[in-house]
Amino acid sequence: MKVSILKASDYTDREIQRVVDAHFSLLGADRDIRRDMKVLLKPNLVMKRDPESATTTHPAFVKAVIRHLEGLGVTDITVADSPGGLYSRAALSGIYDTCGMAGAVAGTCAKLNLDTTSGTRAADSRLVPEFPIITPVLQADYIISLPKLKTHCMTGLSGGVKNLFGVIPGLTKPEFHYRFSENARFCSMLVDLAGTVSPSLTIVDAVDSMEGDGPSAGIKKHTGLSFAGKGPFFLDRILLEYIGMPVSECLTVHEAIQRSLCPSSAAQIPVCGDFTTPPRCGDFRMPRSKHVDFGESIPGFVRKPALYLANRLLTPRPVIRHNNCIGCGKCAQSCPAKTIRIQKKKARIDYRSCIHCFCCHEMCPVSAIHIRRSPLSR
Ligand code: SF4
Ligand code: SF4
Repeated sequence: MKVSILKASDYTDREIQRVVDAHFSLLGADRDIRRDMKVLLKPNLVMKRDPESATTTHPAFVKAVIRHLEGLGVTDITVADSPGGLYSRAALSGIYDTCGMAGAVAGTCAKLNLDTTSGTRAADSRLVPEFPIITPVLQADYIISLPKLKTHCMTGLSGGVKNLFGVIPGLTKPEFHYRFSENARFCSMLVDLAGTVSPSLTIVDAVDSMEGDGPSAGIKKHTGLSFAGKGPFFLDRILLEYIGMPVSECLTVHEAIQRSLCPSSAAQIPVCGDFTTPPRCGDFRMPRSKHVDFGESIPGFVRKPALYLANRLLTPRPVIRHNNCIGCGKCAQSCPAKTIRIQKKKARIDYRSCIHCFCCHEMCPVSAIHIRRSPLSR
């Protein structure tokens, strides 16, 4: 399954339209789309952030995909995501406005989803019988996933597979973090979810990417590219190669390789567009967190105390910068372990119950939570 990689200098409408049209052409995607289809666009709208912060998918990509679909005669196009936090009409409207989605659909036939209902889809999974999924995704005939290229403190990479976690409705996402608190199990669940949602096309916004402590507290980096493919697993293997992260540090890609969903070597994946071999960035910063998973390898009778000790000594942990904290409570709302309290307008973490999922770090609007690595784990 080939991956299309194109240079994209900036976010002008003209440049991104050229790139999006070329991806459809290179991958032969136009042939898969019928005019009467319900098409769903799934950008990464993790939180209320200006597009220039490189946290969310840039609206120029959403607009260009809508324009391309309109050119094919498609009229039923919905833009939908379930960002972090509450999944309500008010929360969605605020995020659409701030992230530039309202502007992306203006003057087109596309609509922004405000339906906050959800249903379930049977999962092809060893871990869960079914996934709760937002309604417009369940109703779509053709799904186009539009991730932003970012590092991710928990999963290593935020790309094609991780973007699909946003089809799980609102605060059900923290429940999944809690149920699958070991990183390997969480990533395995994400691979199951990607197989269940099965997007027909994925186009990655990597014009400005996020390096370091992504997906929301990292650093913007101009990478001037866009990647696309029909399968998220092949695409993520190429993205991992590009950012220079070993497979062992991105368990979604590791799991996909174990299940033969993509090749172990990026060199085995055919690429087209502006490159003939997978490109490498060379200086992409990795997240400070490196999750520590010992669960599988420790004998049962000592597992609990050993895990407790290892977690305390080695696992990176979220630390509140109280000078920056504005007491908004978004971290507490997103914490699956319910281990954060707001006292005197400042967030406080009870580390005894922390499962190191970094949801709080991801959702803090002012980057007041940083990740502290243990000196022993360096
Ligand atoms: S404190 Fe943060 S890292 Fe710990 S469980 Fe809560 S959200 Fe996850
Ligand atoms: S740490 Fe961040 S998310 Fe939590 S209350 Fe403070 S400002 Fe809000």
